[in-house]
Amino acid sequence: MMAAMAAIRFIDRRAAPSAAPAATASSEPVVPFPGPPAAPVPEAERVTPMMAQYLGIKAEHPDALLFYRMGDFYELFLDDAVLAASVLGIVLTKRGRHNGEDIAMCGVPVERSDDYLHTLIARGHTVAVCEQTEDPAEARKRGNKSVVSRAVVRIVTPGTITEERLLEPRRANLLAALSRVRLDETSWLHGVAAVDISTGSFTVAEATEAGLGALLARLEPREIVVADAAADEPVLRAILEDAPGAVTRVARDVADPASAERSLREWYGVETLDGFGSFTRAEIAAAATAVAYIARTQLAARPALQPPARAERGLTVEIDPSTRANLEMTRTLGGERSGSLLHAVDATVTPAGSRLLAERLAGPLTDPARIAARLDAVGFAAADRRRRAGIRGDLKRAPDMARALSRLSLGRGGPRDLAGLRDGLAVASALSSRLLEEPDLPPELAAAAGAAGRIDIALGTALEAALADDLPLVTRDGGFIRAGHDLALDDARELRDDTRKIVAALQSRYGEITEVRTLKIKHNNFLGFFIEVTAAVGETWRLPPHNALFIHRQTMAGAMRFSTAELADLESRIGSAADRALAIERDLFEGLVAAVMAEASAIRAAGDALAAIDVAFALGEVADTRQWVRPVVDGSLAFRIEAGRHPVVEAALKAKGVGFVANGCDLSGTEGSARAKAARAGDRQGSAHAKRAGMSGGGRIAVVTGPNMAGKSTFLRQNALIALLAQCGSYVPAAEAHIGVVDRLFSRVGAADDLARGRSTFMVEMVETAAILNQATDRSLVILDEIGRGTATFDGLSIAWAAVEHLHDRNGARGLFATHFHELTQLTKKLPRLVNLTMRVTDWNGDVVFLHEVVAGAADRSYGIQVAKLAGMPASAVERARTILAELEKGSRSSPVERMLDDLPLFARLDAPPAPPRRDPLREALDAVDPDDLTPKAALEALYALKRAAKEEA
Ligand code: ADP
Ligand code: MG
Repeated sequence: MMAAMAAIRFIDRRAAPSAAPAATASSEPVVPFPGPPAAPVPEAERVTPMMAQYLGIKAEHPDALLFYRMGDFYELFLDDAVLAASVLGIVLTKRGRHNGEDIAMCGVPVERSDDYLHTLIARGHTVAVCEQTEDPAEARKRGNKSVVSRAVVRIVTPGTITEERLLEPRRANLLAALSRVRLDETSWLHGVAAVDISTGSFTVAEATEAGLGALLARLEPREIVVADAAADEPVLRAILEDAPGAVTRVARDVADPASAERSLREWYGVETLDGFGSFTRAEIAAAATAVAYIARTQLAARPALQPPARAERGLTVEIDPSTRANLEMTRTLGGERSGSLLHAVDATVTPAGSRLLAERLAGPLTDPARIAARLDAVGFAAADRRRRAGIRGDLKRAPDMARALSRLSLGRGGPRDLAGLRDGLAVASALSSRLLEEPDLPPELAAAAGAAGRIDIALGTALEAALADDLPLVTRDGGFIRAGHDLALDDARELRDDTRKIVAALQSRYGEITEVRTLKIKHNNFLGFFIEVTAAVGETWRLPPHNALFIHRQTMAGAMRFSTAELADLESRIGSAADRALAIERDLFEGLVAAVMAEASAIRAAGDALAAIDVAFALGEVADTRQWVRPVVDGSLAFRIEAGRHPVVEAALKAKGVGFVANGCDLSGTEGSARAKAARAGDRQGSAHAKRAGMSGGGRIAVVTGPNMAGKSTFLRQNALIALLAQCGSYVPAAEAHIGVVDRLFSRVGAADDLARGRSTFMVEMVETAAILNQATDRSLVILDEIGRGTATFDGLSIAWAAVEHLHDRNGARGLFATHFHELTQLTKKLPRLVNLTMRVTDWNGDVVFLHEVVAGAADRSYGIQVAKLAGMPASAVERARTILAELEKGSRSSPVERMLDDLPLFARLDAPPAPPRRDPLREALDAVDPDDLTPKAALEALYALKRAAKEEA
């Protein structure tokens, strides 16, 4: 019982606002709770009512850290406390005992809980937030041992956050939910629902097992929700291990298609999903899993989600995870945003614009018409610098409307979110009319300008009229409605604020009545308003006639305190006026939120429109200020770039005052006529047949040789990045570019370090190369950087050789192949669409000078020794290396490669796959017999059976 009292006292101490906060931040020691000494009470009885409540709630959320609200703190207990204290670096204390052990405890102040949540979520933890659901005073009415009722109001997970302080402004915060349906006995088809609660966006897609990794790499979800049983399967487990985002397992798949569809209909309150489009079974199951998970984590709250939109396959370039990583599209290999392609081109001025640009960059388009529409918008933005500066200036004042809207829809929004919408709507409507005045506005911008102006102006006006200029962060304390907006509110506030005047008036009146001119009215929390006078005066007030007016309250040393009926009345009127003002403000707030929610979809569309305008003008800014050009993107097999530059390397060199050497590249292919026809008919076999028949078609492959540090890798990547940028609808860093749409992009780097995953680097390289040779089409672009480097020379050369051949006459892809195997340059003699490029270098007094210039031809030598010398290798060692090289070169003059080119028939690969081993019933029967396990009779029978089988086969 002592312990129970302790628990309640404990709450009170923490809850009292005047109490110094028991510090739990890392730097300050926690004030240990003065609990009862270890008492001789039986352990079983020592679960306090509060602890019982805690354990009950915790049992319902075993996988989450439970933030248990106690006054101004969220407390964590037991294992949760140990974990949180170490992750957050806060002090672990203990209070009371449970099951014979000390109860570990730590806590975070509610006011700063966002910061702590941020850290926990970033580490992939889930937090269940448990609030007090009644006023502690209510609980006390039930007796002073009763515990304040509490409930978990929300489960915070990495994929379901909405708070401004928890979110990265320029990054989408996606939750991906997976489902699967059987394709055949060995493989599954996956549904993927990608939801961003912070903006309401909702897309669904389908992926095979082979494509799932690529899809997840593109989406970069913060959290992936997957059914327990599925997550344990080796194939999916491997995909999830490599995918970005924390994996959350849920008990099971959404049971059946019918109930999945029903749950979606219920969520959106519609009779049928037909209005949203047509979805596959896997997509519906994934979407249902997503909403179920959102319902589970948000409990009572329901975010306003857009209806699911289907991401059609084939509309975007397929890019597998390692290509994405190698090309450093949205982050560098080290995981930084700075140094990535995205960072280099992101000149957007709003967070929503930045998110849209990242999304577009992650999924470049394959439809030339849509690409051209985006390019038109960028061209318009690039054309007029003054106009662009004006529009970007406007955009800068537009807050993040989508995220504000989402917080309001979840009941987590505050006055500042309303103000954000007010300002955003003003910008949207101003920009809309400004753009619509332009006579030559391209369709993409016209559509955006239209959507930005389609919101009922009444809403903006209402927000404008109601909200004060300076806003508090939270609704709780009021003070956000403009004075003069609401009469009743003004009255209540006046009464609340006029205290001073009323008190002053009473003070002088009482002074006159009693002729005590020094009389003062004071206030404290215990007595409320009171008058303090000297003991001598006080004595007279206790007698008639004064005692009719003054009520004695307290006698102090040398002083007495009195109150009056008027003061008591004032006290309660002021208290209720403050309450009334607050209640009125809350009502007004709710009304505004309702007005906003009624326009939710129009607001969201306006927010999306602003983002699209921002992206177009940001890319226009980049195009104009960095001399980028509009690429021609069409359905051909062209790939011709004049004076191309690497956008990231160029910027890095520029910062150092070094110029970048521009280089052209032409990989344009021809479509073999039979193959083109077959491709149009969608006939893969015909296409393969055309290839075998020797119809030469497809893109060119360039073998790039040159010493280390000459610029090979830079050249390879810049061409891939230019293609990516072009298909995103951006201008490109080149003097001219003509690109036939790339359907798939592959990039591999030889012997990439992959120690983290504990795989052999060479194995990784080969697995990835195999994937390219198996998947690339004649529309693909393949970048191979020193493939084969990870093994012995002859091994590596042979593999590189075979890969080039395969790409050339099987895949027909456009490709760039940097290699240090100079032997490969000989292949141009046999492969008609192969060309040799090399990095120009010159010798300057025995030192190598890199010119970073790409020219036709093959490198005559590797310059390895010159590079070693540049790197500071001791002169004696450099000399020695020169001598050895001379000896070696003497011996290898009659290189075997020359011979091989003539001897090895290039087209001698097996066309037909080896036949699978035939079934052999006789052998199977024989295998089934175990002689050690046979009776003589059974042995005889087995012998007869074998004879019979042999006869049947013959
Ligand atoms: P390689 O792959 O041939 O070893 P890299 O492509 O890694 O060479 O380039 C090495 C360095 O040379 C780069 O970091 C960059 O500083 C510089 N460089 C590469 N290409 C160019 C260029 N076109 N113009 C100027 N400097 C370049
Ligand atoms: Mg390199």
